[in-house]
Amino acid sequence: MNCREHNRILIINFMSHLTDIGSFLYVIIFFFGLALGSFLNSWIWRAHENFRIVNGRSMCPHCRRQLAWYENIPALSYLFLLGKCRTCKKSIPKYFIFVEIGAALLFVFVAWKNLNNSAFVPTHFFRDILFIILLIIIFVYDWLYQEILTEVTQLGVVAGFALNLYLGVSVWSMLWGALAAGGALWRTERSATAAR
Ligand SMILES: [Zn+2]
Repeated sequence: MNCREHNRILIINFMSHLTDIGSFLYVIIFFFGLALGSFLNSWIWRAHENFRIVNGRSMCPHCRRQLAWYENIPALSYLFLLGKCRTCKKSIPKYFIFVEIGAALLFVFVAWKNLNNSAFVPTHFFRDILFIILLIIIFVYDWLYQEILTEVTQLGVVAGFALNLYLGVSVWSMLWGALAAGGALWRTERSATAAR
């Protein structure tokens, strides 16, 4: 048994032990998803405002007051504050809570799909989570600001290529895939431009 195979069995044993605990695992994953959705919300907002991501704690998007810890609990704070900032009383954008709950549900779905697969591959799980994160950013940013962030798509291309290479997908089939999907988008864009 090689080292990779050994690690795989270790992780499978660990995961199956966790699933024995039952739905409790999914509750934890749901809260992880909520926290991640909350982080993505602030990342998207900061990216649009040209803030640096390391720039301190979460703040109100209107009056920019720093939030106390109890105002920063994903989903719960929104409900507890009735969707309004405690200081300036302006509404916290509704999409915040949708993104948090959406991310949590997608996380649970990906975990459920991967853990119920008898041939559990940790790399697949990691790849699914990574692409869920990138697609949430692309979807929400495009929805709010009608722009797709090039850095995010580029990261997706590089990560997708590297992970597929690691998983043994042939370079040719990846190039064909890129050409088919990219070509279709390019054609749609051209006919949309021509129709204008
Ligand atoms: Zn405020």
